Parts: sequence; C-alpha cells; structure tokens
Amino acid sequence: MLSAPAFCGAKLTIHLDRVCANWRKLADMTAPKARCAAVVKADAYGTGAAITAKALYDAGARTFFTAIPSEGITVREVCPDAEIYILGGLFHGRAGTYELHGLRPVLNSLEEIEEWRLFNLGRETALPAAIHIDTGMNRLGLTLDEAEELGTKRFEDVKPFLSLLMTHLSCADEPTHPLNALQLERFKKMRGFFPGVPASMANSAGVFLGEEYHMDIARPGIAVYGGNPIPERENPMQAVASIHAEVVQVRWVEEGHGIGYSASLTATKRSRIAVISAGYADGLHRLAGSSDEKDGAHFFVGGHFVPLAGRVSMDLIALDVTHVPEDLVRRGTLVEVLGDNVLVDDLAKHAHTISYELLTGLGRRYHRVYSDGSNQPEAMA
Ligand SMILES: *Cc1c(COP(=O)(O)O)cnc(C)c1O
Repeated sequence: MLSAPAFCGAKLTIHLDRVCANWRKLADMTAPKARCAAVVKADAYGTGAAITAKALYDAGARTFFTAIPSEGITVREVCPDAEIYILGGLFHGRAGTYELHGLRPVLNSLEEIEEWRLFNLGRETALPAAIHIDTGMNRLGLTLDEAEELGTKRFEDVKPFLSLLMTHLSCADEPTHPLNALQLERFKKMRGFFPGVPASMANSAGVFLGEEYHMDIARPGIAVYGGNPIPERENPMQAVASIHAEVVQVRWVEEGHGIGYSASLTATKRSRIAVISAGYADGLHRLAGSSDEKDGAHFFVGGHFVPLAGRVSMDLIALDVTHVPEDLVRRGTLVEVLGDNVLVDDLAKHAHTISYELLTGLGRRYHRVYSDGSNQPEAMA
C-alpha cells in the first residue's frame, strides 16, 4: 500500500525513544538479579517488529519472545546473535525451521518435548529450548503432574537442551488476585525438579508484582509499548504510539438533526462537526462511537478534548468541535486520535477492549513515522 504522507489521511508515529525508555525502566526494576527480555509478538504489538526489536537490541535487550516462527525470523534478521523464543511452541514437523533460523521453541507439551528430543539426538551441542509449565492459566504447557514426573524421572533426557523453564501468570494485572501467589508457589515447587535451569514467570504486570516474580528472566510486552500494566493504578509507562488524523471537512448541523450512520446521535443544539480521515478500518473500533443513549470516546484538537459524534465509519469519524475556536479546527487540521492526551488504555476502554487489542489492530493505512525523540513531526507532509 502507498504510504507516503501525500497519499494518507492519518499518521501513526512510533516513538522508539520511549519504547526503549520503557524497556530500560523495566530492566532497572528487574536488575540486578533478573534479566529483562522483550516480547515482540504480533509485530511488536503493532509497532513494527523489525525496527522495534532492533531498537530494543541497541538499548540492551538480548532475549526476545514472539508467538510464531515468521515473527522470530523477522527478529533474527535484525538481531543476529539474540536469543529468540517462540511462545506458540514447536509447530508440528517444523523443527528444521527453528534450527535454520536459530529459534528456540517454548515446548508446551510432552509431545513437543519428544519431537525436540528426537531432533536433537546425536548432536554434539543441543539446540536450546524452553519448557512451559501450566501453573493455573489452563492454556498451554505441561500439567503439574507431567512436569513433576519429567523432572524427577527423565530430567537427563531434557537437560542437554533445556535453557529455560517458564510459566505464565493468568491474573497479574489484578495484584491482589489469589491466583498470583498460588501460581508462584506452584512454579517454585516445579523449579525444584529442574535444578540449575533458569526460570521465567513475569509478564509486564508480573514485573510490578515484586521481586519474587522476576526469577531469572522477565518477559514484559505491553508495558514496553506504553500500555498500563496494572489498569487500576496510574500508568508508569510512556505512550509509544500516537495517531494524528486529518480533518477533511467541517460543517454545521442544525439542532434535532441526526449525525452519521443510522442517525444514532441527534444534535441537541446547533453543532459544529469536524470529519476526520480515519475509521474502524484503521483499528478505531466502532464501539468507541456515541449515540443518544451513550457517550463515546474523546479525541484532542487545538488544546481541547472533543467527543466522537455518532458512529465510527470505516474511513471517517465525526467529532463535535462546537466548543473549539473556529480557527483551530479547519480542513487540513490534524486531530490527535491517540497519544499523550488520548491515552491508549482510555480509548481501548471506550471500545470495550484493552490496549493490547487496540495496538495490535491499528491497520496498515497510516503514514507511519518512527521518531527517535529528536523530531516531533506534526505535519503530514
Ligand atoms: C504475551 C505474553 C507475554 C507478555 O505479556 P504482557 O502482558 O504483554 O506483558 C509474556 N508471556 C507470554 C507467555 C505471553 O503470551
């Protein structure tokens, strides 16, 4: 797709300096006992895996986690000597792909472990892999019984290639949830069956649960990308993605008239409406719109928050700018849809979702800009 500024209606800026500052903050929290990895799955949460992973590598990250091999290969191309784990596991019959690109599967079942063990037979140096133990998430990983049996009876079978023992927290974003302590206790017990093997437990929220959860390697994702790891607290991370969409038309709507599809919002007074070039095809969910029954999200222009007026369309969103001085919103003005004022967690909440889904779903129609902090590009062209 053509993405030069002259061809686009909205701009997505990824602040790489803030990505790195967020990662460094997390790395400082886990140091010196634990190392900090970076989770760069789903195109580094929508920020662009190749560029973001390289920036994180330059900031000091040496261990990366992706979901599937293709993402791992993207990271491998820019980080030749990094450790890259594939969280989705060892995909059936694909061990050769992992070997070719130096990817480490996170082995999620006894079947995967056996496939990797056989693939390693007769090698002088084993190809490293992680083993994932399910301590309460009930998604991927060995059961506690399977892990205990493996560790106590067959540790020698896996020891040559086992580089990391892993589990995943189910409720870390709710610090007082009892499952956190229970998973910690279970995982500590499991570690005892695999002596000397480094361990990893904490996602972003897990890093904030305290040192006990950091173990040897932390695996933050969303916090690196500016999402709030503990939604009920103030966000300690910096916003990483900002979106500015261009006003394509400003018009007056008379009192009593409907705005947008289904006329879902009726103007309660004569209103000035600005229409911007961005919509649900750009990952701005329909649920963030407004109607006579419900308020929607707010965007930011000319120093003012402005409410969404009516439904979000595929390519357009109407905003009520009646209270903004006319000269501050005209055709060609850029409106902040996401950034330092319109926070990713707030916008996600209005769309009945979470920052993760918003960032990973931003779409491909933006003029995409990477900023290192030295430039703060505001204009489209
Ligand atoms: C996605 C993921 C992470 C990162 O989680 P965040 O909440 O984004 O920090 C860590 N570990 C596993 C297994 C994951 O799937």
